Amino acid sequence: MALIVQKFGGTSVGSVERIEQVAAKIKKFRDNGDDIVVVVSAMSGETNRLIELARQINERPVARELDVMVSTGEQVTIALLAMALIKIGVPAISYTGSQVGILTDSSHTKARIMQIDAQNVRKDLKAGRVVVVAGFQGIDEAGNITTLGRGGSDTTGVALAAALKADECQIYTDVDGVYTTDPRVVPKAQRLEKVTFEEMLEMASLGSKVLQIRAVEFAGKYGVPLRVLHSFKEGPGTLITLDEEDSMEKPIISGIAFNRDEAKLTIRGVPDTPGVAFRILGPISSANVEVDMIVQNVAHDNTTDFTFTVHRNDYQNALHVLEHIAQEMGAREVVGDVDIAKVSIVGVGMRSHAGVASRMFEALAKENINIQMISTSEIKVSVVIEEKYLELAVRALHTAFDLDAPAGTAE
Ligand code: ADP
Ligand code: ASP
Ligand code: MG
Repeated sequence: MALIVQKFGGTSVGSVERIEQVAAKIKKFRDNGDDIVVVVSAMSGETNRLIELARQINERPVARELDVMVSTGEQVTIALLAMALIKIGVPAISYTGSQVGILTDSSHTKARIMQIDAQNVRKDLKAGRVVVVAGFQGIDEAGNITTLGRGGSDTTGVALAAALKADECQIYTDVDGVYTTDPRVVPKAQRLEKVTFEEMLEMASLGSKVLQIRAVEFAGKYGVPLRVLHSFKEGPGTLITLDEEDSMEKPIISGIAFNRDEAKLTIRGVPDTPGVAFRILGPISSANVEVDMIVQNVAHDNTTDFTFTVHRNDYQNALHVLEHIAQEMGAREVVGDVDIAKVSIVGVGMRSHAGVASRMFEALAKENINIQMISTSEIKVSVVIEEKYLELAVRALHTAFDLDAPAGTAE
């Protein structure tokens, strides 16, 4: 008998029929003798609908009130799923994040889980109930409702699994595992049998939205066995694992991630003196804008150009701050570009193989795709390109690194 935490995403609970299908699936596990805690997302599209409603009042709604509202999406699905379970004879009880003691910090819309007091859950499990918990939400010390950021139900699932010392956390979604890249963009993408936490963390932070970054972080930190599976199709899914077995067949690159959420800003003709980076990025950071990639050009005539990327949502804000800095520093001009995308190759195999980056650049050159920025780490190489070439770039890299499924096997 195992204790399993199962998380079902928005599409999997997107209609009453699907919720009933999920209930039937949970019943099967129960009939097998397993204890089940279920975490659910809001019905697909609901969180977006709620955010849109708030924006009709204010383009930048007060974060505390936004959390009060968007957390209602999950409250609907927990109740529906509990009702569906009870209807088929499975004793079940639903809880919101606060009822189940998910304590977070107070950063509304992107709160972090600090502690879970899973006493209620344990009692209910003992009494033979399936416990259904609302994903994506918690409560801070002052009693305010908080949410965990988009995709945050994954993190609720993993955090509950860690708190309960569950045997496995299963993330059920609309794909049958983690693929070499988003299968919606590259139909020849292949499901990975296993992927290391380190690789999954890079893929998530570089744009693969199949798992929220914090869920992967949490699972790695607390050693939660984590698996991504299809909600309605049988299969082994993908195991996120700690071991990095160096089998000869292990590919150099495990996956390709991409991100359309960034924008690029350049300040031209700034004096090339010590402290320039700080004078530019200090005020950007004070404006609460996070910077991702940074490039400073070689100086020419004692002046230099400085380029960096930010989240697209922060673009206007960053542009405004940068224009102010440019005036102060006597810089020549500020230019911005939102039509960019970041493409990254990820793999622990890179550590033991040289020439991975040049193979990437060669594949992009063959397609005539210009690289605007580059950044590397031990297990990834990222490039910024024009957004319109994104899909072409991902497909070209997928082929260049031998990741394409053999003909006839792609789903
Ligand atoms: P859920 O609502 O179940 O949380 P998400 O939409 O958040 O589902 O995540 C699943 C989606 O992630 C898939 O439909 C797929 O398009 C996308 N995705 C992006 N990168 C990958 C990848 N490498 N492997 C699998 N799916 C991916
Ligand atoms: N409903 C939330 C969202 O859409 C949380 C989740 O689905 O994980 O981001
Ligand atoms: Mg998700």
